[in-house]
Amino acid sequence: MIMYTLDRFARNRYDSAIYKAKLKKNGVRVFYAKQPMPDTPEGIILESVLEGYAEYYSENLARSIKRGLKENALHKIAMGSLALGYKIGENRQYEIEPVGAKAVQAIFTMYAEGKSQTEIVDWLNNNGFKTSRGNSFNKNSLGRILRNDKYIGVYRYDDVTIEDAIPSIIDKPLFDKVQSLLHHNFASRARNKAKEDYLLSTKLFCGHCGSPMIGESGTSKTGRMYYYYKCAKRKRGKSCEKKVEKKDWIEELVVRYTVSHVLTDENIELIATRAMELIEKDLQDTSVLIGLQGLLKDTNKKIKNLMAAIEQGIITSTTKERLEELEQERLNIEGQIAREEMKKPLLSKERIVYWLTSFKSGDIKDVEYQRRIIDTLVNSVFVYDNGDKGRRIVLTFNVSGNNTLTIESSDIEGIAPPK
Ligand SMILES: [Zn+2]
Repeated sequence: MIMYTLDRFARNRYDSAIYKAKLKKNGVRVFYAKQPMPDTPEGIILESVLEGYAEYYSENLARSIKRGLKENALHKIAMGSLALGYKIGENRQYEIEPVGAKAVQAIFTMYAEGKSQTEIVDWLNNNGFKTSRGNSFNKNSLGRILRNDKYIGVYRYDDVTIEDAIPSIIDKPLFDKVQSLLHHNFASRARNKAKEDYLLSTKLFCGHCGSPMIGESGTSKTGRMYYYYKCAKRKRGKSCEKKVEKKDWIEELVVRYTVSHVLTDENIELIATRAMELIEKDLQDTSVLIGLQGLLKDTNKKIKNLMAAIEQGIITSTTKERLEELEQERLNIEGQIAREEMKKPLLSKERIVYWLTSFKSGDIKDVEYQRRIIDTLVNSVFVYDNGDKGRRIVLTFNVSGNNTLTIESSDIEGIAPPK
């Protein structure tokens, strides 16, 4: 998703954080097309802190909804859609369905023997097997089946896990072999994907012409893939002499210098103070909360009157409907009030300091860590060619005050730019 400005896409930073956390969970990243230096750069850091909390809160909420379903899980009752090879027997518990079970055994055996997913899918379809929903097989259905530990008897629901609770279809050694093969294949795919994720997109600029630098990949004569950023103007074939920058090198360098320059104890204190100022400003505006409380009072009064009428025997056909309507309304208002009140205890200065301090100790080679640092703390990076092999790099950070850093090639010895 690309946003055109730094304006939040929700009415306040709390909602914005909650939406962003939800998007992230579904694999959507938010980019800003324009990235001007905001009036209060700490707002971005605050938003990032809030995002972490929103994730935590929405998970808690989901957990309490699931609590009721967990009761079922403890009795090993079949829930959700049925996996291939099972049917629901007496007392709503799992039993083996022989035809599906045969397909499952074939899938595991063939995969362990090194057959390709296409070969397995073709074999299943040619022999008339169907998925649990009665469809033909495709590669997606295979992945789900190969990872499902129900087949070795594990009952799983939310955080309830009970071993040997279901009749097993696959024996443990075969299952383990398949898992290690899957892990190996998945890990190599993930490595390639991470390489293609250009963390400095929209933040890296050509110092010579001011154009953004765009992520690009290519294959060398020896067949090796390489990844770099290229000046957009030069990419379009126009005249700019800026050399390309190797992706890993520039990203790691930016992260390294950002952590050491921005996350000093002094700066952390300053950022936390400013973030708290923003929070307090938001909290001073209690008009929404007061309005909601008024609404709740009205609704309660209406419900009370209706109940009194019912007790006196005054019931029309619409009374019950109206009561349900009012009760739903009350539930909605209570939810909104809870969300407004959640803002208050959500953050203290200590928590922000703690969060920012924990930022310092990440693994510099870890892509997720690099992403968090760049997304949160880096505003822009301008890179200039400087002499034969050298570079000059000007970093601007999302903090007020002393927010730029210039690195010359002599400062970046040991991690010299590639040729
Ligand atoms: Zn350029």
